[in-house]
Amino acid sequence: MDNREIITKIDKLKNTRNAVILAHNYQIDEVQDAADYVGDSFELSRLAAESDADVIVFCGVHFMAESAAILSPQKTVLLPDLSAGCPLANMITAEELQELKEKHPGAAVATYINSSAAVKALSDICVTSANAVRVVNSLEEDKILFVPDGNLAHFVAQRTEKTIIPWPGYCITHHRVSPEDIEKARTEHPHAVVVVHPECRPDVVALADEALGTGGMIKYARETEYEELIIGTEMGMLHRLRKEAPDKKFYLLSTGLICPNMKYTTLEKILSALENNQNVITVSAEVREGALKALQRMLSVS
Ligand code: SF4
Repeated sequence: MDNREIITKIDKLKNTRNAVILAHNYQIDEVQDAADYVGDSFELSRLAAESDADVIVFCGVHFMAESAAILSPQKTVLLPDLSAGCPLANMITAEELQELKEKHPGAAVATYINSSAAVKALSDICVTSANAVRVVNSLEEDKILFVPDGNLAHFVAQRTEKTIIPWPGYCITHHRVSPEDIEKARTEHPHAVVVVHPECRPDVVALADEALGTGGMIKYARETEYEELIIGTEMGMLHRLRKEAPDKKFYLLSTGLICPNMKYTTLEKILSALENNQNVITVSAEVREGALKALQRMLSVS
């Protein structure tokens, strides 16, 4: 079957099953093009909650589908490839967070949305890369345990008066970018502005012109007077940016900016998930209750 035939079948099944396809900005181009909505994990979770679809096909990684299941427990959430996990989210377990909390009684726990439902359930509040500083500043406590991304924790620590206690997790994709990559890219594209994701290392963020989450990058790309942008986030983002700001030129900061887990989803797997109702993501009622509180508290701040 070629892609057109697969998409025709997907569209038919979408109608019969009242399904919606959500794709993360880092998905492969064909998947982004076949999706009803493309966005960052938080935007997509919100869309999942607000949509009147019965079935959500979440083209992303496991924690994203879990967030959709937490926010929309009455809907069926399908992850086209069950092995699509997030190495960053897997860098802290619920048991490790529990131990950390016991070591720091009285500290609040701010947890990046890139985390498992079980870790969210032990947290006071969730954050995204876009709202992390605002959310942390909204907390009453002065001491904040920030998990699991140490680079984002550093980014927040530089922009708040609070004491941030970071967990040493990192995104294997963004953490690979080095200051030398920035120097090289600036030499190759001297008129371009450098925009990186806050999941990059602090020495990379310090050399960039802007540090923004994927939603912020789209807005910036549309509005900036720069005609050329060097992008320091996962390569799938370039497809989205070229659609959103077709008059601009985009260059990937480093060839290492590829997340293998984000590339597992294919059109065939979307079709198969819908046809066979396979890879249903669920969250237990107990975990859901705590995780939902942390997510809703973030929503009330942002
Ligand atoms: S790009 Fe990084 S944070 Fe995103 S899914 Fe891949 S490993 Fe996780």
